Amino acid sequence: MARKIGSRYTAHQILGRGSAGTVWLGEGPEGPVAIKLLREDLASDEELVGRFVQERTALLGLDHPNVVSVRDLVVDGNDLALIMDLVRGTDLRTRLDRDRRLAPEAAVAIAADVAEALAAAHAAGVVHRDVKPENILLDMQGPLGPGGSHHALLTDFGVAKLIDIPKRTRTTKIIGTPDYLAPEIVEGLPPRAAVDIYALATVLYELLAGFTPFGGGHPGAVLRRHVTESVAPLPGIPDELWQLVIQCLAKAPASRLRASELAARLRELLPLLAGIPPLDVDEPDPEADDDSEDPDRTAAPTPPSAPRARRGAVPLVPGARPDSNRDTHTSMRVPAPDELAGGAHGTARVPRPTGAPRPGSARARAAARRRRITLTVAGTALAAALGVGAWLATSDDGSTDQPENGTTTSAPARP
Ligand code: ADP
Repeated sequence: MARKIGSRYTAHQILGRGSAGTVWLGEGPEGPVAIKLLREDLASDEELVGRFVQERTALLGLDHPNVVSVRDLVVDGNDLALIMDLVRGTDLRTRLDRDRRLAPEAAVAIAADVAEALAAAHAAGVVHRDVKPENILLDMQGPLGPGGSHHALLTDFGVAKLIDIPKRTRTTKIIGTPDYLAPEIVEGLPPRAAVDIYALATVLYELLAGFTPFGGGHPGAVLRRHVTESVAPLPGIPDELWQLVIQCLAKAPASRLRASELAARLRELLPLLAGIPPLDVDEPDPEADDDSEDPDRTAAPTPPSAPRARRGAVPLVPGARPDSNRDTHTSMRVPAPDELAGGAHGTARVPRPTGAPRPGSARARAAARRRRITLTVAGTALAAALGVGAWLATSDDGSTDQPENGTTTSAPARP
């Protein structure tokens, strides 16, 4: 079923559906194209359409072998469409769903391709803001790269910024996954180039491990982990690669590498990684905080393969020692009444109510733990609310280059 898009393009068949709209295989004056038709509610939002038209230059301006170029922008009746280079292949999420994790050489080759795309974007003043496997396309028709990897291209440049305006995000629910969000975004700071490096390092970690470093469980818990937890080491990962990953997952944006340097360092590592099989690592259990202390919990079966990855706590005050039990500031222990009164060793001992557990008994420890969990959950909910609030309040900060005051509704296709 063919559908006309503006006067120059025809959409033939659906290639995929995303959060912002539907992507069609189409035809234009220069041959096959991919046409992203924005969702109706987005396309009928006059303010949003205005922003797309205004930012035409940023959207159309990126021309790089690792970037899916936007060739044209069509505003036609109820349709708002981005005309893009057609990539014959699949997206990295589909590949991960199939293979779970990649061999380090292939993972690093893909990450290096994306780092090069980011280097070009950042040099042009554009921050992507939504680097994730869904936005990385693999060209399956071109020649294979290191480790049998497909050439990777980053797509959806500038679109996240245009759609993610405060008014819209405040009135809707959380959009997408928080797994790739840099800690400074959670804290409400404006997204600069370093957020893309953090997101790319998260993708690289996921390609190697089969899971993201801070994902799992409630979105609020994920946001909190970005800010307060350190990343779990991956058993068997070559140290040079691990150092790069953790440097780019640094909490402080200034500590992360720049995109061009990251691309160069990743490429340098490729010979070292040749022939290394995918890592064998178990996903951390988001529920398993300090299970060693839990008297109610029976011993979990030991996994037959590599040790379970565990995240650690990051000190909230720079220079302070992290909590030894990986609890964060949201987890505090409430003292029992007898402890407040001096406890078993105190002088003003409070009488124990009938049925109350004996201080120090397994039942008392279990009750204390239940109180602690309740407080942790309350604290986490508060932190999550703050984090989500900060995230939703993230404002449009001019992270692309100077907007043009273009008023045309359909820009000419670039050569
Ligand atoms: P989202 O809006 O969630 O970022 P997209 O709308 O960009 O997702 O993409 C949805 C799907 O459409 C992708 O997973 C991919 O399979 C396909 N797709 C997107 N862009 C292209 C393209 N330029 N060429 C070929 N297929 C594409």
